[in-house]
Amino acid sequence: MSIEELKEVDARGFSVESHGHGHINLAASTTRSATDDLASSVNILTHIVGRAPRFLAYPWGRVTNDVENTVSNLGFVAAFTIGIRDGGLFARARIPIRRVNAAWQFRLQTSGYWPALRFSRIGYPIRAIAKAFK
Ligand SMILES: [Zn+2]
Repeated sequence: MSIEELKEVDARGFSVESHGHGHINLAASTTRSATDDLASSVNILTHIVGRAPRFLAYPWGRVTNDVENTVSNLGFVAAFTIGIRDGGLFARARIPIRRVNAAWQFRLQTSGYWPALRFSRIGYPIRAIAKAFK
């Protein structure tokens, strides 16, 4: 999205938050690299929308305890990962929405039932069916 588009969606009530700056694998980065990347994202988003981002979605959902500490030290309120049902404030489960998802998948994933469903016995078959129809 462009800077103007980010400002517009923020003004329309969407919350513009962070996904890092360079989309690096934070879990494979040094603390210094992770800190620099995330601080850059915070500074740029603060400049664009006029407030610091409160939430972070880890690129590819990759996170370690060190990364969680870095995120907390930078002032984030919470962060989201993939594949963990709930690992605490800085490892909350997020729902990956992909461009190739069918409409029924999007409806299911945004229904409010998906976080519990995806880790249930029927979650695996649903994901397998979705993969087969990609
Ligand atoms: Zn991403």
